[in-house]
Amino acid sequence: MTKNLDYSWRDSRTKVAGNDDTQRLMAAGQRLATEVSRMLASEPDIADRHYWLETMVNHIPDYIYAKDLEGRFLVANQATVTENGFREAHEIVGKTDFDIHTPENARHFAEAERRVIETGEPMFGIEELNAVSKEERWLMTSKVPLRNKQGATIGIVGVSRDITDRKKAERLLIGQARLLELIAKSTPLTEFFHELILLIEGHLPGIVGSILLLSPDGQHLLTGAAPSLAEAYNAAVHGIAIGPKAGSCGTAAWRGEPVVVADVLSDPLWEDAVDIIRPFGYRSCWSTPIHSYQGKVLGTFALYSREVGLPSAEQSELISMAAHLAGIAIERRQSEERIQFMAHHDALTGLPNRVLFDERVTSALQQARASGQWVALAFLDLDNFKLINDTLGHHAGDELLRLVAGRMLACVRNSDMIVRVGGDEFIILLTGLPPDSGVVTSRLEDIRTAIGAPLALSGRSLQVSCSMGVVCYPDHGQTATELLASADSAMYRAKEVGRNNLQVFDAKMAAKAREKLQRYEELRDAVARGEFVLHYQPQMNLKTGRVFAAESLLRWQHPERGLVSPAEIIPLAEETGLIVPIGDWVLNEACRQNKAWQEAGLPPIVVSVNVSARQFRERNWVSRVAEALAENGLEACYIELELTESLIMQDVSAAIATMHELQVLGVHLAIDDFGTGYSSLSALKSFPVRRLKIDRSFIQDIPGDDDDKAITGAIISLAQKLQIEVIAEGVETQAQVDFLRASGCHDVQGYFVSRPVTPTAFAALLA
Ligand code: C2E
Ligand code: MG
Ligand code: MG
Repeated sequence: MTKNLDYSWRDSRTKVAGNDDTQRLMAAGQRLATEVSRMLASEPDIADRHYWLETMVNHIPDYIYAKDLEGRFLVANQATVTENGFREAHEIVGKTDFDIHTPENARHFAEAERRVIETGEPMFGIEELNAVSKEERWLMTSKVPLRNKQGATIGIVGVSRDITDRKKAERLLIGQARLLELIAKSTPLTEFFHELILLIEGHLPGIVGSILLLSPDGQHLLTGAAPSLAEAYNAAVHGIAIGPKAGSCGTAAWRGEPVVVADVLSDPLWEDAVDIIRPFGYRSCWSTPIHSYQGKVLGTFALYSREVGLPSAEQSELISMAAHLAGIAIERRQSEERIQFMAHHDALTGLPNRVLFDERVTSALQQARASGQWVALAFLDLDNFKLINDTLGHHAGDELLRLVAGRMLACVRNSDMIVRVGGDEFIILLTGLPPDSGVVTSRLEDIRTAIGAPLALSGRSLQVSCSMGVVCYPDHGQTATELLASADSAMYRAKEVGRNNLQVFDAKMAAKAREKLQRYEELRDAVARGEFVLHYQPQMNLKTGRVFAAESLLRWQHPERGLVSPAEIIPLAEETGLIVPIGDWVLNEACRQNKAWQEAGLPPIVVSVNVSARQFRERNWVSRVAEALAENGLEACYIELELTESLIMQDVSAAIATMHELQVLGVHLAIDDFGTGYSSLSALKSFPVRRLKIDRSFIQDIPGDDDDKAITGAIISLAQKLQIEVIAEGVETQAQVDFLRASGCHDVQGYFVSRPVTPTAFAALLA
């Protein structure tokens, strides 16, 4: 017998090795083996041995028993006797499982035992559900054949261990994993809360859970989920104010710490709410605040029971686990909502952005179509916003945009929309309007007036104005795209007539817009057909009389109109972005031509290339310059790039960074049209430029105009102080040359030397 037992244990140990129960089982087996060897060592008699063995078996908390072939108990240890509701071992002897368990369970046990008897094969580590007591019990059972001395099977020996706790913990773990998966899948919060509560309730029979959420005002609790609480009770609780004496949940949310009430009928915290709960029969209510990661209260998790009492350690643990999971889910939802908001709103003003506008505008038009009402759409641009940004700084600029946004919002209804589309540009969408243009303009004029009211910014009082281009659906377009294009034309017109006004789209604008589109298409085709040429205008040193450089100037060889000047090309090209491919062509052509002249044996000169702001802002602009040089095999020092002051001032620090990169490349930099922009003199020091080009407007009235003479003289001495070279543009007369020479400026460009000429003519001139 001893041998047998020992053997079966060792075997079961190997079968289910790895978990805690097995470890414990092994330890128990070990102890038993030691005990037995000790007993044997003292050479006791048979009776003693029998007694000791029985004592030991009865002390083991696992169920140990033997049954005959008919399933009748032969022996059972004390644990088995007690578990099955008996007091003494002899009471169970002779009984079968059918006398003890439900027929279903008994049949299940009997079947397993019959298999062991029939096959003679033991079974190890089988998990069985045993519903003998009120609560469900899980057993891990091993059954081996019981044999007589002749080796014939005469029954079975069974060992079972209660693994209910482990099973529960396992189920909880699986439940938690599933809940985390639900969070990861962004399951709607209510659905998640349901699952969470059902998991807890499955664990704690007779207890029901509830989740309440703190309202946005932080003062009330709203129903989150409580699938097992009475519907009417949930309705009564929804919206309760939190406070120092507001039941379990209201108080827990107020204090930010758990509140356990053993009996709601007598606890002072429930005094004011006792009539709400009494009809439902709940007696105890234990609530814990749901906290965010930063410790903010988001809501409460509570358990209700119909019995008076405090939570057990296990229950408390479950409550805090549930509150923790609920917190994660709520925070995750909130951050998803934040991301969603950010994708559809402008961070600075909180206004909807273009994405949201595009989503809404179509349905607004559909609604208007159905109802016969009008929709008005206005482009709004603040006048001189850049100036405010540049003079008062970005912080003041941001503040101004926020103020303006607020003022606009105050003028419109909830169904309207104010959109920030970028910088200082907004779109106003007014819906549900009567078909009356007077109403439209008066509502928009109200907005203009509101924006124009004096405001305080960086300690100064100032006023801003704005320009608006307005269109109405259905008069000015059918689709959002059409309407936006028309509003853009109207806005353009508003700027054209001097800003600070509102222009409603009209037929003339439509014609203009069409014409512009046509010109754009023409220009686009010119790029594709390669209809551009470069002319070159020499730059000469007065002391040596030598031409040391040439400015490349763009011309369009129009098939019908002949040579078109850059004044007609550049603005449109800049507005439409065509300047980028055009500029690339110019740069490349200038490099190619300069290299060709050098290879033709002409004295090497610098060719300067005009650069527009739009090109300069291109992210890979510097590498494009490097490519043009490399492709044409031209040394960088033979190219000079002409930048304008306004180009640099758009974003001084970015411009300086790009200028430094270009300097490293080895190309020269010049500031074109110097004196016409408002570059700050202090910034000028930090520009890595080689040369200033005095604008033609200062030269043309020399020597007659004293102011121009003074300005020109000042620019020349400024350049000398900063050790920057200086050249005068648009020099036409001998008198101008004399003045410049006397003032210390010896480099000139202008008709005095030569008009811009074709490459062939320039080569002749250079030779
Ligand atoms: P800019 O860079 O200041 O070029 C000088 C302009 O003054 C040229 O006009 C030139 O023909 C004109 N000019 C030169 N000397 C005299 C003179 O003595 N008297 C008078 N009245 N005018 C003179 P153009 O060629 O019509 O170019 C106008 C502007 O177009 C240029 O001004 C430049 O800003 C722009 N531009 C020309 N080519 C390009 C180009 O390839 N890319 C870019 N982005 N802009 C260009
Ligand atoms: Mg130029
Ligand atoms: Mg110029």
